[in-house]
Amino acid sequence: MTDERERSVAICEGCEAVCTVWVTNDGDVMPVSSTSNCECPASALRVLDAETVG
Ligand SMILES: [Zn+2]
Repeated sequence: MTDERERSVAICEGCEAVCTVWVTNDGDVMPVSSTSNCECPASALRVLDAETVG
């Protein structure tokens, strides 16, 4: 079993908070830290494609 995951940046579609997240190879998105800017009970995190930054 591999535990591949990539660090990425996501934005909450609820409050537009941007936070750093882990994206697993299953497509799950989890905040890296519990101290994100988002306090939404059900976060709708949308992963931003890092390659589009800049
Ligand atoms: Zn939020």
